[in-house]
Amino acid sequence: MRFKLISLGCKVNFYENNALREMFLLNNYVEDNNNPDVVVINTCSVTKVADQKSRQIIRREKRKNPDSVVVVMGCSSQNHGEEIFSSTGADIVIGTSYRNKLLDLINEFKINNEKILKINKDVRHLEYESFNVFTMPKSTRAYIKVEDGCNNFCTYCTIPYTRGEVRSRNKDEIIAEITHLVSLGFKEFVLCGIHTAHYGLDLKDTTFSDLVEAILNIEGLYRLRISSIEESEIDDKFITLLANYPKLANHLHMPLQSGSKTVLKRMGRKYNVDDFIKKVEKIRSVRPDISITTDVIVGFPGESEEEFKETYDFINKIKFSELHVFPFSAREGTKAYLMDNQISPDVKSMRVDALLDLSKKLEKEYYNRFLGQELEVILEERNKKTNLLSGFTSNYLKLSSDLSDDYIGKIVKLKVS
Ligand code: SF4
Repeated sequence: MRFKLISLGCKVNFYENNALREMFLLNNYVEDNNNPDVVVINTCSVTKVADQKSRQIIRREKRKNPDSVVVVMGCSSQNHGEEIFSSTGADIVIGTSYRNKLLDLINEFKINNEKILKINKDVRHLEYESFNVFTMPKSTRAYIKVEDGCNNFCTYCTIPYTRGEVRSRNKDEIIAEITHLVSLGFKEFVLCGIHTAHYGLDLKDTTFSDLVEAILNIEGLYRLRISSIEESEIDDKFITLLANYPKLANHLHMPLQSGSKTVLKRMGRKYNVDDFIKKVEKIRSVRPDISITTDVIVGFPGESEEEFKETYDFINKIKFSELHVFPFSAREGTKAYLMDNQISPDVKSMRVDALLDLSKKLEKEYYNRFLGQELEVILEERNKKTNLLSGFTSNYLKLSSDLSDDYIGKIVKLKVS
């Protein structure tokens, strides 16, 4: 049997597809993106646009592969399973559960020739779903899922409703997977999760920082990066790890979402701007030239010009090295969806533009601090436009080189110019 995998959305979906690939290959399936017997689409529901895109791709794949078994999983089908089942032609629709049972479901479909809709709605009482395989990433950077679910219920987010309560992956399994990949020559590992640093919240004896320390002590590991970590999750132990382990990437992605106290309150975020700035100062006291990147939502309901200016000024004060800017997307089923004073699309796009301009300025300022320095880079891929090999430094600067493809996956020193 031949299979094709499509991953939409976040790094967790990307990891899950890598795990699925191993599961299929271990069961004598062959990967064939041109002529598949089974197509699996891991969907995303972070915004309305993501939901629409998921449906478009499901319909496209069913049209292109009318005789293939089209399987849909992930957050969009967890949220809108019945709709997707009745309107897209998909054959098997599961949500954010039963992914490690997919081979059985495909066999069941093949035997009964009956479409399957199987959504576990009880997302608040889920076990961590292990795929019991070691992924074999196709990229030089290995994403490693360590956790699923989130307990925060920010007022604008549907993820706790689709991914459920926090559940941590077995620590030994994580260590074994990374140790295995280190032995195969992988250099950089990126820890990811639905709420990565919530790892351990459901465990009695381990915290996220304990896990990070255990991974940093794996022999031969070159670089460890955290996909995202909130201000409130950077504890003293994590600061000590930053101080003592240079292989812990000199880069943290810390979602801010807003720089206005009143907006943060309406968002239901678990910190305020004073906490945030204090934590950044603490981080910079052990890593003065660390790169701190962030996510910001503009146009949250009721966001006044003054509140937006607070966000703008706060970002400028922190000197992030890059911003990911998102216009607020009203998600049905969330508190923010019902809030008054929804902001007009025009105002949202003006604010997005203003922050993207600021991001460009801050990125340049940060990059220029390293001009002339030689930094270690793991070369990843050849850029089609420039025909140069590119890769990232520990502090997430993207540098390029005219070296040959033999250097892909290798660590080289490049001058920042
Ligand atoms: S922390 Fe908030 S925004 Fe992030 S996944 Fe959880 S509920 Fe959503």
